[in-house]
This record gives sequence, C-alpha cells and structure tokens, in this order.
Amino acid sequence: MFSIPPVAAVVLPAAAFSVSQSKDAPFQEIWSPAKEKIQQLAGHPAVQREFEAFLATLESAYNQGSISNEGMKKIEEALEMAAFEHRDQKRTSIINPNPPQYIFHPIQVAHNLLSVGEIYDADILAAALLHDTVEDCDTSPEEIERKFGPAVREMVEALSDQKGLSRDEQLKAQLEHAAHFSFGSALIKLSDKTCVLYELHDQILEGDIWYPLEKSKAYFEHADKLVSVLKERDILLPSALFDRFDAIQAAGKTTFGTVKSVL
Ligand code: ZN
Repeated sequence: MFSIPPVAAVVLPAAAFSVSQSKDAPFQEIWSPAKEKIQQLAGHPAVQREFEAFLATLESAYNQGSISNEGMKKIEEALEMAAFEHRDQKRTSIINPNPPQYIFHPIQVAHNLLSVGEIYDADILAAALLHDTVEDCDTSPEEIERKFGPAVREMVEALSDQKGLSRDEQLKAQLEHAAHFSFGSALIKLSDKTCVLYELHDQILEGDIWYPLEKSKAYFEHADKLVSVLKERDILLPSALFDRFDAIQAAGKTTFGTVKSVL
C-alpha cells in the first residue's frame, strides 16, 4: 500500500522569544480560505492528513507567539499558491491507481522544518512550500518576489535546478551551490532531501517502483554527498534535522542491503 512517511504534528516547546501579535485573528480564521482551496486542489486523503498535521503544528506555534499574524498569512498564501501551481502533478505509482497530489511533498518539507527543526521564520517556511514551483511549474521568480518578497525569491531560486543541463551537470551544480547556500536555502535543501529519502525508502519496502531501485540508491548517495557539504558549513543548522537525515540514510543502507531484486 502506498503511504507517505509522516511528520507527526507536535506541540512545540515554549519559544525563547515571543513576537507581539494581534490576537484578533484566530488561527482558524486565517486558515479557512486555504483549507477550502487545498480541499479543492488536493483532496486526496493522504494530502489532507499531511495538511492537517502541518496545521496542528502551525497552530501550536501561533498560539505560543512564535509566528506572527503577518507571518502566518504569508505561510498560508504560499501554501495556496504552491497547491495551485502543482495542481496537475502527482507522483507516478504502479501500485496505487490514485496517488496523492504533489503538494504533499512541499507540505512535508515545511512541516519537517517546523516540527523537527523548530524553524518559525515565515520567509523560510513560505520558501519551503514554494521550493519546487520555479523548477517544476511555470512560476516565475519575479512573481514570487512580488507576492512574498526578495528573501523568499532568493531561497526558491537558489533551490531551483538550472534548466538545460544534463542530469550529471545538475548534480555537480547542486554540490557547488550547497557550498554557498544561505541559511534558509540550506535548511530547505536539507529538509527536501530528508523527505524524498523517506519517500524512496517507503516505496521500496512497499514494492512500488515510481523510482527504480538503482536510481534510488544513487539518489541516496548523492543526497549524502550534498548533506556532507552542508554539515561542513559554519551556518549552525539545527542538529535535529541532521539526525533525522542520518536516520533515514542508515535505514536506507540496511534496506538496500536486503532488497535483492533489481526493479
Ligand atoms: Zn522538493
């Protein structure tokens, strides 16, 4: 059965700093337009589960004052835009005739940053939700800047593979970029790789082959190289995010050692 590796909703620890915010915008009110839109664009139960878990963690962060009113609106608008931009995309699957819409992936990437990394910066969470739109959709960097500001644009652009390069050239460029990523771009890339590895790992265990075994192994190896570059950088990414990455790398090594069939 196809499943998406969950990032559980968490009640976050009290933040060291609180930001002032108007309490006249209840969380549910901010999110009601997005809820409706996500339901329309991505009503698959697996996406809805992912979305509800993300919302529960966001609500906890909002209520403790870690994300401002304004920040929450930015995150909400980023999710609406990403769901719209990715509306026609799904993961391919041979065992599931109705795979979930692609938006579950950006939601997971943002939720992992929030719940595991305790990242509350609205620009970083918005960029996490939008991180694949320029590369995979018709979204322009200018549009992202117009709606979300230059910081979000910088992160999304830095995370987008350059078009027109061969796969090998792209992988080489990713390693070079990783050495120069800003703090936000590095965080999102680490979370992106972690979430994709969980997906690849699960599909192998479940016998699905939307990404064949040999290619999956190569993906794990490349992700390891890329994250090694981030580990060597002096930019203080939360260690909990590296721990989660290392855990799936270790699980992958065991699984690849036991799965014999070349799919
Ligand atoms: Zn991604």
